[in-house]
Amino acid sequence: MSITDNILKFKNKLPDHVTLVAVSKTKPNEAILEAYQAGHKVFGENKVQEMVKKWADLPKDIEWHMIGHVQRNKVKYMAEFVTLIHGVDSLRLLKEIDKQGKKHNRIIPCLLQMHIAEEDTKFGLDNSDLGTMLQSEDFKAMENIKIAGLMGMATFTQNEKQVRKEFAHLKSIFENLKQKLPDISILSMGMSGDYQIAIEEGSTMVRIGSSIFGARNYS
Ligand SMILES: *Cc1c(COP(=O)(O)O)cnc(C)c1O
Repeated sequence: MSITDNILKFKNKLPDHVTLVAVSKTKPNEAILEAYQAGHKVFGENKVQEMVKKWADLPKDIEWHMIGHVQRNKVKYMAEFVTLIHGVDSLRLLKEIDKQGKKHNRIIPCLLQMHIAEEDTKFGLDNSDLGTMLQSEDFKAMENIKIAGLMGMATFTQNEKQVRKEFAHLKSIFENLKQKLPDISILSMGMSGDYQIAIEEGSTMVRIGSSIFGARNYS
């Protein structure tokens, strides 16, 4: 199957309320252009420098999502154009995004990344971090960020029950948060291996890489 076939397949099979983020990290511009020519405009990258370079080289109506862990000193490079930052997991990072948003006179949409997996290698906030953040004066004072929803990654396991339980947990945190922040609408969960379960558990945004572009080579 070509990239074009894969994009068309996903567009056909995903429900209308689920946004597809085509994860193009490590892939060349030609691969992104093939997906673009098939009508897809939303791409996800996990390294700021790589995303900035692709943004500069590729059509300007592409929406770029930062899905990886972000270092504060890199926010300034993407503040001008990034459509959505998925991996916000600290107040310090959020404050830097707010500051850079202000410089560029824009409001930058962000997702808070929650830690739902069993592995402790995956980044993210827990429920108490989230509560503390929402109550802080610093949070309330920010005007150049918008919390658009939550993001999470399930444990990397064949155990479907566990993955389902973790996604259901994230969905319940999302519903709770909606009481406090009624404008949130995005629940980013699900990748190539687990997006079907994620959608069944309430995902509104899936991040699909290898099932569209093929396996990645890391050098
Ligand atoms: C790489 C990556 C994906 C896509 O993974 P695939 O298994 O290739 O679909 C999704 N989300 C994040 C945060 C990633 O880093």
